[in-house]
Amino acid sequence: MTKRLPRHLRKIGHVFVDETMQDSPMANRVREKLSGTTQADIPWTVVPSEQDRVEFDEGDTQALYLKEYKGKFLRFCPGTRAYHCCGYRIIHIGENCPMACSYCILQAYFQDRVLKIWANQNDLFTELGNSFGADRKTRYRVGTGEFTDSLALEHLTGYSHNLIEFLEQYDNVVLELKSKVVDLTWMDATSRTDRILPAWSLNAPFINEHEEFDVSSLKERLEAARTCAEAGFKVCLHFDPVIHYPGWKEGYGAIIDMIFDYVKPENIAYMSIGSFRCMPQLNPIIADNFPDTTYIYNEFVPGLDGKARLLRPLRVEQFTFMVDRLRKHGMDKQLYFCMESTEVWNEVFGYAPMDFGGLGKRLMAQAFGE
Ligand code: SF4
Repeated sequence: MTKRLPRHLRKIGHVFVDETMQDSPMANRVREKLSGTTQADIPWTVVPSEQDRVEFDEGDTQALYLKEYKGKFLRFCPGTRAYHCCGYRIIHIGENCPMACSYCILQAYFQDRVLKIWANQNDLFTELGNSFGADRKTRYRVGTGEFTDSLALEHLTGYSHNLIEFLEQYDNVVLELKSKVVDLTWMDATSRTDRILPAWSLNAPFINEHEEFDVSSLKERLEAARTCAEAGFKVCLHFDPVIHYPGWKEGYGAIIDMIFDYVKPENIAYMSIGSFRCMPQLNPIIADNFPDTTYIYNEFVPGLDGKARLLRPLRVEQFTFMVDRLRKHGMDKQLYFCMESTEVWNEVFGYAPMDFGGLGKRLMAQAFGE
């Protein structure tokens, strides 16, 4: 019987591959994964090596582009000095996402339907080996979910599986896999449950239903978190973006209560909370792509990073409600804000990152299970 790909991959209707990557293990794996599925016969186009991008515009259809990446794979997260940033490093494995969340910043970064995967994994591993192996006493907290979803394309690429196998030899690295889908095929690639942090973003059920498309349900994500916790992994959960909408208290209260039907506080390495932030060019894109979305018309002020953010009293009200509820469930030191000021930290938590030696330092310790 012909198989179907997971729902979030069914819009892929074309594969582009760099001339130099045609016979790469990645290209062979994608070919093999597509064969025997209803998408087995989608066209493959070879891209000349001097060409850097592809033009693709076929309605709703998405293209996969297996590309030779020539830039730096290991980067700093693009946080801003004006706010407390968590100091994590990005392993850049590709760009864009097959799912569709109305608030997604990637819409402003990549205004096309091309899902890029850096297929030259050998170059990636050489660079990572040079960095991680240079001084084994330097610790790294890294993640792949900044310019893409860490696991969205895993079914076709096995990227995280390969990366986790590679990282087995680096005790000084913790990898966070941040996703909104469930794919646990990477689990058998590691014996180091203390060096991989599976992570899921959560939101209020209303936001999940109305603003996130082709993603796994909240229940599926939490079931996956429970599976990982039972296997010995610590998990991370993220509330980002928190959105101000009528009924937000009931919504965020419900999802917070639901978390603890699946995992215990001691299973959670850390949990971030971040309010919806929007760079000026994103707003019209959201309005265009998601005409039913209304939260973009809330009252926003420009932040120090140039992004619009909800008025501070409203942010603080939401944060206080959520933090109080999470504390009732036994969460405390694992909670942190994504891109907030000292004043907001103090107002909600009663302390700020400088009181405990800095956010990056604390998260590093928590990632390494200290
Ligand atoms: S799953 Fe994440 S990366 Fe993908 S569209 Fe949603 S917010 Fe963007």
